[in-house]
Amino acid sequence: MIRVALLGATGSIGTAALDLARAYPDRIRLVSMAARSNDAALVRAAEELRVPRIALVDAEAASRARAAWKRGEVLEGEDALITLAEEDGADVVVNAVVGGIGLKPTVAALSKGKRVALANKESVVLAGELLTSIAKRTGGVLIPVDSEHSAVSQCLRERPVSEVRRILLTASGGPFLRRDPATLADATPEEVLNHPTWAMGQRITVDCATLINKGFEVIEARWLFGLPPERLDVVIHPQSIVHAMVEFTDGSVLAQLSVPDMRLPLLYALSVPDRWTSKLPRLDLANLASLTFVSPDPARCPGRTLARRALDLGGTAPAVLNAADEEAVRLFLDRKIRFGDLMPLVEEVLRAHAPLEAPLTLESILEADRWARGRLHEAAAPTSRK
Ligand code: NAD
Ligand code: MG
Repeated sequence: MIRVALLGATGSIGTAALDLARAYPDRIRLVSMAARSNDAALVRAAEELRVPRIALVDAEAASRARAAWKRGEVLEGEDALITLAEEDGADVVVNAVVGGIGLKPTVAALSKGKRVALANKESVVLAGELLTSIAKRTGGVLIPVDSEHSAVSQCLRERPVSEVRRILLTASGGPFLRRDPATLADATPEEVLNHPTWAMGQRITVDCATLINKGFEVIEARWLFGLPPERLDVVIHPQSIVHAMVEFTDGSVLAQLSVPDMRLPLLYALSVPDRWTSKLPRLDLANLASLTFVSPDPARCPGRTLARRALDLGGTAPAVLNAADEEAVRLFLDRKIRFGDLMPLVEEVLRAHAPLEAPLTLESILEADRWARGRLHEAAAPTSRK
């Protein structure tokens, strides 16, 4: 039985984790859950799965939960995420919150030597080097939930990076793969949120349309697998069946395939090094029309190019990139800026930043994050619609 703290329980990955808890009652015990403000969904899940402790970041939501639910404890505020991440009662922390807010709980869990099943890729984008050094010191482990990184770790099977020539992450290409880039500037949130192969939270779905998500994933891979950026490639694969490939030095390429369903990488993150029998949808290769792969067109991928620049700049640059993007995505979803403004605004903030060099502290990273959010809003003000 593994005891799990689930952060971000009401989101797309969080509800996938709840499905797994239902499917494996004799293997997974949820000891705590957290969300930002959806008290009704969190209380319902706590009641159903008999979870004794929940946390809501939003104080009003926490009061509503306390009034409605008397069977367990309700914590509140941002620090509650840290409390749940480091409590002794949990062996594994599933970090499925969205945004830079996920970093502190990841640091807290790793500092206690725990296993972290990490969907919150922002943690690694902001602080890859810091997390690596904490894990080395404490014996804590980061296990990727992001499908591409789960695929890489399944192909690598702990072979040394000296045997790896390169890692290939696949990208679906997002909703605008075949649309003329000249028509994209005024794409609406509805068009952007209509992803062809994956159903995900809003932020990551917008990030798939600008392809900055794939750039974040390259940064994530750099730290999770310890390969330099020039050995991390991206290939467009619209069917989202092959999640990643590893090319070894002898020329052999291993790939991981499955239907696009985030419950599978999540399941692997919980079961590794074992595999648990599942009832998840099966891949039916004979009935797939085709699997295709094409090189990305840089003109369509400004987000990926920006992420590569941030990785090369190093230090606090990736944290700035993430924070600026997070704020820009919010403005776009609120219809304050156009789709075409997203990457230019993020680029402006990255250009204005003088990155602090590694080794970074948690405080210096969070300071860069705060600066970038403020700077993005200043940059957006002239274009922003009231
Ligand atoms: P989502 O928007 O569906 O859910 C986000 C969750 O985080 C919710 O439970 C919400 O309550 C919580 N949350 C949001 N803001 C918070 C805050 N300020 N404090 C505490 N909790 C907060 O997001 P998602 O799509 O499930 O993505 C979660 C993470 O997983 C992201 O980092 C994303 O990049 C990553 N990821 C998601 C997918 C996917 O298929 N959805 C795939 C790969 C990686
Ligand atoms: Mg991914």
